[in-house]
Amino acid sequence: MSDDWDVVVIGGGGAGLAAAVSAAERGASVLLFESETELGGSTQLSAGMFTAAGTSVQAELGISDSAEKFFQHYMDLNQWQLNPGLIGAFCANAGPTLEWLIGLGVEVPARVSGNAHMPGLCQAGVEDVWRGHVPKDQGYGVVQVLAKAARSRGVEVVLNTRVERLITKDGRVAGVVADGIEVPAGAVVVASGGFARDEDLLARYYPAALRAGADLFVVAADGSRGDHIRFGEQVGAGVAGQGWGLLLPTAYFQRLHHWQSGFPPKSRVYVNGQGRRFMDEDASYAVSSGIIDAQGGTVWAVFDERARRTLPPGYAHWNADVVSAEAQAGRTLRANSIEELAGKAGVPADALVATIRRWNEQLPHGHDADFLRHRTLANKGSADNPDPIGEAPFYAARLLPAELVCTHAGLEIDGRAAVRDGRGEVIPGLFAAGEAGAGVLGQRYVGGGNAVANALTMGRTAGQNAAERVL
Ligand SMILES: Cc1cc2nc3c(=O)[nH]c(=O)nc-3n(C[C@H](O)[C@H](O)[C@H](O)COP(=O)(O)OP(=O)(O)OC[C@H]3O[C@@H](n4cnc5c(N)ncnc54)[C@H](O)[C@@H]3O)c2cc1C
Repeated sequence: MSDDWDVVVIGGGGAGLAAAVSAAERGASVLLFESETELGGSTQLSAGMFTAAGTSVQAELGISDSAEKFFQHYMDLNQWQLNPGLIGAFCANAGPTLEWLIGLGVEVPARVSGNAHMPGLCQAGVEDVWRGHVPKDQGYGVVQVLAKAARSRGVEVVLNTRVERLITKDGRVAGVVADGIEVPAGAVVVASGGFARDEDLLARYYPAALRAGADLFVVAADGSRGDHIRFGEQVGAGVAGQGWGLLLPTAYFQRLHHWQSGFPPKSRVYVNGQGRRFMDEDASYAVSSGIIDAQGGTVWAVFDERARRTLPPGYAHWNADVVSAEAQAGRTLRANSIEELAGKAGVPADALVATIRRWNEQLPHGHDADFLRHRTLANKGSADNPDPIGEAPFYAARLLPAELVCTHAGLEIDGRAAVRDGRGEVIPGLFAAGEAGAGVLGQRYVGGGNAVANALTMGRTAGQNAAERVL
């Protein structure tokens, strides 16, 4: 190991690997520390879906799109509460970063995809132009490609080593300390992921997650301990993205990501405390958690016996036996009529009866005049109409945003991925990206692929600028 590196990267997930590869491509000597025994972090656990505009994949499918349209959608969805310069840079660089990944060996076939498991182009969120690029072999595949590129470009990777702190010298960040050893560097990239697994940091920077109480479960990688916040405190870094993160709506009995937990039945209706339907049950999580939160009380997923009975086997939680067991235990409500179910749920019976009647008049016939769910189902490639809700017994399972995927608060960065201090001035020698580098991920997740695109795009940007010593 050389004892003086051009660039040290902290963290070997998507952002760190992209930073390391792009810095090495520019001729920098690069050392990457990863705290766990293998590379990948949350990126490796993800579908690898990547939101980008103006790509070759879109062009091959005849879709006209641009970074400007992406920018407009991104800013509007986030009510212009993000830094336009940073978002402009992100939107402009996301497409070229996807092309860079394709050049390295990531495969995104030019075909229409219905979901995050099917390689191709899918609807990522609530965008009018589809931007969700799903790679072959998902996040795991992306990490493998980047790890190979890092090896072939001479990046030195040290596993099982958690960086403890930053070193500063003459007003710049000049290296790190790991395993008690000082490692000098021309620039440091913090890419240590988020803080989903640190309850104290959640209380400080994303307290909304703790509202789920005992129902909260975390799917982010084990290394998501919030070390970026501690590094930032050391050098007076600004914090952006405070109070934001991604919580997905789940039934209270889910404890795993839906690939393992399974999916609720298609024939279900979500109702609020007034017994009214209030959303498209398949709405993107770009907006679904916000809609559920806005109901201001308990929300229920209502379905019938046929829906329970026909749940596919093999999933850990959404299967016929688990639903029966939950009902037996009294945690999922079960009743022989809709009126009785309403009584148990504490919602007006006449409203719930009317809701189910109206749902039955529309959804099983392929049309949803109220919430346009037929459009979402079509975009997912879901051909069959939902069955009517009519076979007793009826069930109601509590639904809430409780699956913590990622956190958005981190070190405030600019469009070059340079970290700013509390006054808004750049901290020389310090870059950050991914969940650690904040400002791109906003209050509203723009859809599947937002976080992976952020990690890889800003990671690549950080690596380029760290190598070229722009600070
Ligand atoms: C199950 C799941 C599915 C998801 N699906 C998608 C999706 O399809 N599309 C999407 O856009 N987003 C998705 N996300 C979110 C997305 O994957 C992450 O936000 C993104 O990949 C984070 O990348 P990152 O590089 O910032 O962090 P990570 O990939 O978590 O990498 C950070 C790395 O830093 C290491 N580390 C931490 N502290 C230190 C330290 N002190 N020293 C050295 N190393 C350290 C960690 O061990 C980790 O390996 C998903 C997340 C999960 C958990």
